[in-house]
Amino acid sequence: MKEILYCSTNRNQKGGFREEIGFKDAFFMGLAPDNGLFMPTYIPKIPKSEILALKGKTYAETAFLILRKFLKHELSDKDLKWIIQNAYYFSIPIEKLDELTYLARMDHGPTASFKDFAAQFMAKLMYKLKPKNRKITILVATSGDTGSAIGEAFRGLGGIEVFILYPSMEVSSVQKKHMDTIGRNVRTIAVEGKFDDCQRLVKQAFADRSLKHLNLTSANSINIGRILPQIAYYFYIYAKIAENYGKIIFSIPSGNFGNSLGCEIARRMGLPVGKIIIAVNENDEFPRFLSSGQYEKIEPSKACISNAMNIGNPSNLARYFDLYKGNLDKDGIIHKMPNIMKMKENLFSVSITDEETIKTIKDIYKKHSIILEPHGAVGIAALNHYRKQHKKTLSVCMETADPAKFPEIIIKEIGARPKVPKSMKIIGKRKGKTILMGNDYKEFRKILLK
Ligand SMILES: *Cc1c(COP(=O)(O)O)cnc(C)c1O
Repeated sequence: MKEILYCSTNRNQKGGFREEIGFKDAFFMGLAPDNGLFMPTYIPKIPKSEILALKGKTYAETAFLILRKFLKHELSDKDLKWIIQNAYYFSIPIEKLDELTYLARMDHGPTASFKDFAAQFMAKLMYKLKPKNRKITILVATSGDTGSAIGEAFRGLGGIEVFILYPSMEVSSVQKKHMDTIGRNVRTIAVEGKFDDCQRLVKQAFADRSLKHLNLTSANSINIGRILPQIAYYFYIYAKIAENYGKIIFSIPSGNFGNSLGCEIARRMGLPVGKIIIAVNENDEFPRFLSSGQYEKIEPSKACISNAMNIGNPSNLARYFDLYKGNLDKDGIIHKMPNIMKMKENLFSVSITDEETIKTIKDIYKKHSIILEPHGAVGIAALNHYRKQHKKTLSVCMETADPAKFPEIIIKEIGARPKVPKSMKIIGKRKGKTILMGNDYKEFRKILLK
């Protein structure tokens, strides 16, 4: 099998980056020089026999088989096994709602959200791929959840320093406590400012030539290294519930569309996926695009209770456009229309209001005694919409966070307190501290150089 190379989604634009580069370069660059996102030049196939043979395999075994297709030119099997063993020490429970409806709990990682799947893998991969004697420094600006997922994932990895910047007044006390107490090689900086200020400080540091010796690296969400691990679990879930190579539908609560993109790539690798349901909250730019062919980003995005999905211009939409032979830039401008007919064949997207999200949490609790949180509820509601128009077939909804992260809403709506998972309980007992900092680049620079 030939090596998979990576190209920019903007390669065909005037002045676009036309090179095809290896995984390692794309991984450490993050974004292409023309602001495009990196895409694999081809998608490897998994034959039917291999998919059928996944039945009964552990998550680690499945992830190894799938990710090896992408990474065998970069890493030895031994290193890939080490990464997977150290990244995935948690399970994916699958709950049954009825004969044809399942819920995949993606929330059993150290920070109780599906973000752990990408963050854990990416951190350990970076550790293995970086030159042995080179120290690197990861800078992350966060408004909450991503910071803790990345911090936990890099904790204790030698030769890597992590600085997480968050707006001191804009993260919840639980989020703050979580990030501040990760410790070891992970430090937090509470910036007197907004999330945008944190992002600006990080960007300024990347552009600062006098910091070159720190080997600053980003771990942001558009990195191709965060997409690959999100392909593997679709194969695992499929093998757990599908029979006889039949098709199944995945309903995926979506914000930046990275999670669902993993499913789209799995489908192109050969996984029998009937339909991918891209479930969004009131930020409905994508379902409106599918029905009208007009793309209008939503700015500022709407603040819904499924807050990790309050995205008015999903970054990974550029990758979807690329897969469907179109081109979209980061500002939401279409340079080439994708094949919408094909998109509609494979994708279904619907916008769910907060009101319907809450109603779904109540309904599911009443009917099944299962507690959903707002993101997963958007996924179930979207699946119900799809089923109003189509025959009911085998379907899985992804539950992307633990309900215990949203105690106020859950207690108010169903009168039950969600059980707090062990990963969240131990945070209360941890101790830590943060660096308080003004919104000032000179101060930030000093901290980095210390
Ligand atoms: C990030 C996140 C999402 C959205 O995932 P995308 O890959 O950005 O579409 C959904 N639910 C939760 C809980 C999240 O943290």
